[in-house]
Amino acid sequence: MTKMPMMFAGHGSPMNAIEDNRYTRGWKEMVKDVPKPKAIISISAHWYTKGTKIMNEDNPKTIYDMYGFPQKLYEIVYSPPGSPALAAEAKRLISKESVFDNSWGIDHGTWSVLVHMYPERDIPVFQISIDALAPPEVHYRIGMELKQFREQGVLLFGTGNIVHNLKLVNWGMGDNGFDWAHRFDAFIKENIMSGNHDNIINYQSLGETAKLAVPITDHFNPILYILGAADKDDKITVYNDSCVMGSLSMTSYLFE
Ligand code: ZN
Repeated sequence: MTKMPMMFAGHGSPMNAIEDNRYTRGWKEMVKDVPKPKAIISISAHWYTKGTKIMNEDNPKTIYDMYGFPQKLYEIVYSPPGSPALAAEAKRLISKESVFDNSWGIDHGTWSVLVHMYPERDIPVFQISIDALAPPEVHYRIGMELKQFREQGVLLFGTGNIVHNLKLVNWGMGDNGFDWAHRFDAFIKENIMSGNHDNIINYQSLGETAKLAVPITDHFNPILYILGAADKDDKITVYNDSCVMGSLSMTSYLFE
């Protein structure tokens, strides 16, 4: 079997789940030539926990982990089958201590994008949480350990935002970002494209720019898992290359 592609999606506002815009069209474009995965392992910014947790239910539930949005968003059901067998394999492959935990479900970081990429809901999905206390290299190493899933036709899917500072969101800025947001997004992009992952793991060396772009690591960390599972010869394509509302970036990556 050829190696499965993988993706990082900048998910932005939950409203993207019910909109048809340049970003949602970008996500559809991303999967156009990706072979149908056997399963999807999602690393979502929104399952940010103490320790590493793995979902292993037969039928994970859809959860609505966002507040104050239109009713239409809470009516979305994204309930594919789970994959307890692949979840068990993931637990074996991850050398860091981890536990099975089904208190969570398919969260909006995952479903707001997958409703566009895989609307049929027939591909098994489960999530692995992000340990809020682990440093960047630990997330990267878990990605390396999960890499062999690519040989099995399993899609590794990271969903977050490279730049994500909710306190500084400015709705009036529309499809524009602050200078520091563009600067951080461009720094990460350059280093992804050139394969200089050490610069990404050590992103805090950017000082104030990094502090503004990544005030909390939840939305940034998913890219580290994907980079850990990347190969030198992966072809990388950038989608939705832009900042929005000042302090978010939608930049997404396909590795194949
Ligand atoms: Zn989010």
